Amino acid sequence: MTDTAINKKVRVRFAPSPTGGLHLGGVRTVLFNYLFAKQHGGDFIVRIEDTDQTRFVEGAEDYIFETLAWCGLVPDESPLHGGPFAPYRQSERKPMYKEYADRLIAEGKAYYAFDTAEELDAKRKEINNFQYSHATRGLMKNSLTLTIDETEHLLTSGAPYVIRILLPENQEVTFNDLIRGEITFNTNQVDDKVLLKADGMPTYHLAVVVDDYKMQITHAFRGEEWLPSAPVHVLLWQYLFGLENMPQWAHLPLILKPDGNGKLSKRDGDRLGFPTFALDWVDPKTKEVTIGFRERGFMPEAFVNMLAALGWNDGTGQEVFSLEELVAKFSIDRVHKGGAKFDYEKAKWYNQEWLKHLPVSRYKGLVKALFEQKGIDVTDDKKLERVLELVKERCVLLNDFVEQGSFFFKQPETIDIASIQPKWDEKKNLFFVELLRAYELSTLWEASDLEVEFKESAAAHQLKPGELMLPFRIMLVGGKFGPGVFEIAEILGRDETHSRIKKVLGMLE
Ligand code: GLU
Repeated sequence: MTDTAINKKVRVRFAPSPTGGLHLGGVRTVLFNYLFAKQHGGDFIVRIEDTDQTRFVEGAEDYIFETLAWCGLVPDESPLHGGPFAPYRQSERKPMYKEYADRLIAEGKAYYAFDTAEELDAKRKEINNFQYSHATRGLMKNSLTLTIDETEHLLTSGAPYVIRILLPENQEVTFNDLIRGEITFNTNQVDDKVLLKADGMPTYHLAVVVDDYKMQITHAFRGEEWLPSAPVHVLLWQYLFGLENMPQWAHLPLILKPDGNGKLSKRDGDRLGFPTFALDWVDPKTKEVTIGFRERGFMPEAFVNMLAALGWNDGTGQEVFSLEELVAKFSIDRVHKGGAKFDYEKAKWYNQEWLKHLPVSRYKGLVKALFEQKGIDVTDDKKLERVLELVKERCVLLNDFVEQGSFFFKQPETIDIASIQPKWDEKKNLFFVELLRAYELSTLWEASDLEVEFKESAAAHQLKPGELMLPFRIMLVGGKFGPGVFEIAEILGRDETHSRIKKVLGMLE
């Protein structure tokens, strides 16, 4: 798609239904909408599609906005941010839709259907794979099968009814998808979707078309699962507004499970032990908690980067992109048509890269909170910063900082004595006793000086520094891990280093 093809101000929308936590596929849809809008100097709109009251879930809308804020994908217009086309919640726009349904009825492009739930059920039992369509509508109770008087009577007597689109028989509906190119459906494959429900609420199908029109949406990126609905939307656009103003559609490929085929689901995440939601989600009814990427210790920069790479690349082999870079480099032409397999190891790799890449100040506060949760006091801000700087190369998720950094703030809980004991002897003991003295006298407490003194002392005892490093590390850290041992000693400080050496010497007696 070239820029010359765009002559109107770009306006894209993310139109979630508030039915629960936001799956990472949903966030990727937001991201692609956002990138496209920002790249073209356009607006990113969030519209809440809550016309299906039976699927409404308390807290889901707040969750959506919290996710967007976490990812840095700030809408230009939304129920929260306001805007010239308010309200942005479909339930608050209810009176706007009926006139369009009525217009379709008047023009013979929609009809009233009076079938009760029981009648529909009976038909479903009677006819295999029943669809309310050209093949069956003649058998049903609707304004096409009833006389005008009968229909009038039902309407005036207050009988419940829905309005259905009257799909033309055996007609090809063609539209251009920005990712898939030309797509053609035959209307015989599609059912007569309900447009207006018995409670006067529009269905998603009518509302999405009316609102995209009223909100002057130019491009709509949405999940591939909406592709089967597209012919109904295209026909509605044709009937109501003429196709000229119809947004350009882009149906994004699915995010697939890592093992096997099919869409990645929350259940796959639970089964394989990784998050599929952006943030923790607590089901308000069952209180079931679904873990989120944020709470697993992901940085939003990494999460966004990883999502962009699920189905898109810039063709150069570059993998790490900031949001600003993505805005500059994203191109719809490079979005793959096929589904992208989710790979949790790769997601973690992105986080690791971003932890290395970001200034420590960006996540210091988050890590501090994690330390505090474990009851570890990290009030010395300067020290915390130095520790994070030193161990960040070893961390994949934010929680790893606690594992890698706790020993700087409190004595190790366990000491791996078993790794020192077998090769321990009096010579080594003497070396450490001497080292304590040498360190007592050292004027500067800096890693490089500590190392020189350590090596000199080793030479004086005719010991190889290599044999002494492991015991020294275990004395300070408790185990065989961590960054450079002299850097550790420098940060721990003289008193703490001494106390840890002494403690372990005591254990080795
Ligand atoms: N409300 C639909 C959803 O929940 C939006 C589909 C669309 O973008 O048209 O995904």
